[in-house]
Amino acid sequence: MNAIDLRSDTMTRPTPAMRAAMAAAEVGDDYYKEDPTLNRLQERAAELLGFEAALFVPSGTMGNEIAIAIQVAPGELVLTDERSHVIEYELAGMAAHAGAIPSVVRTEDGKLTADAIRGAVKPAAFNRPRVALVVLENTHNLAGGTVSDVAEMQAAITAAHELGLRVHVDGARLWNAAVALGVEPRALVAGADTVMVTLSKGLCCPVGSLLAGSAELVARARRQRQLFGGGMRQAGILAAAGLVALDSMIPRLAEDHAHARLLTDAMTGARGARVAPARTNIAVATLEAGNAPEIAAALKARGVLGTAMDRVTLRLVTHHDVSRADCLRAAAILGEVLA
Ligand SMILES: *Cc1c(COP(=O)(O)O)cnc(C)c1O
Repeated sequence: MNAIDLRSDTMTRPTPAMRAAMAAAEVGDDYYKEDPTLNRLQERAAELLGFEAALFVPSGTMGNEIAIAIQVAPGELVLTDERSHVIEYELAGMAAHAGAIPSVVRTEDGKLTADAIRGAVKPAAFNRPRVALVVLENTHNLAGGTVSDVAEMQAAITAAHELGLRVHVDGARLWNAAVALGVEPRALVAGADTVMVTLSKGLCCPVGSLLAGSAELVARARRQRQLFGGGMRQAGILAAAGLVALDSMIPRLAEDHAHARLLTDAMTGARGARVAPARTNIAVATLEAGNAPEIAAALKARGVLGTAMDRVTLRLVTHHDVSRADCLRAAAILGEVLA
């Protein structure tokens, strides 16, 4: 029997509808802005997120790094949660590419609140580095797919702007947050300066993320993407899958959320495990014994693939390519392995 792969929602493969759309896509050279399918995807994403423009980028990481590079000068600070993706998983690109200095805040559930932002920004002084940008992550990956709601997002964005800071939203899984809350994605990010969203995770596309912002910022982002060697040619092949994703793959994320809940329910009450009910598609258990790698290995031996994020954190991510039956089986195995 095939393993139940809960390592990441990046395990999703393009759907038959995506492959058909990719095969039929009308394409052109994006250096000349002449790929009609790519142009449509960028317009569609901008509209969905409530921004003037959007730019297709090869990865979420490049989208975040472009957003930082165009909004932060060397020696300026980027304020973010200490477990955010831009801190943990981007090779300190903000320092390497932009000369930016991370200023990290310990948060509850990965939520960088308005109060936390106000508390972290010290009064300006001639010899004090300036905070230039706040990065908010929603949903929050390492905190376990936690969701910041519209009021929390809007309060944080307003607080940052009142302090003269720009705001970038790492919305790799913004779609999951919107579905969990039953709100439009644009409601969560209204007023932010830039937003990155990903197509290649729960939405099943093979490649791609988008960076949205004002027309002026997106023009700068296009230059920065070029500097990173990320210029596109006939990317309409990829954009065709992206259009299918935005048109049809977002509402079904609710199924992934219900499946993740089956997993956290199965782990709740296990001795030495701290588990919060999954809010979206990420189930996380904190294992006090510090044996997450051993538990992951025991699960693997029984056909369930998960990730030990560190010694204490076991992460399981649900997605389109694992069924309810798969998740019920994984839940039963989890219960046994943790018992
Ligand atoms: C996956 C992820 C990214 C990066 O996306 P890639 O396409 O893998 O580079 C950025 N932020 C968060 C929160 C993510 O989960």
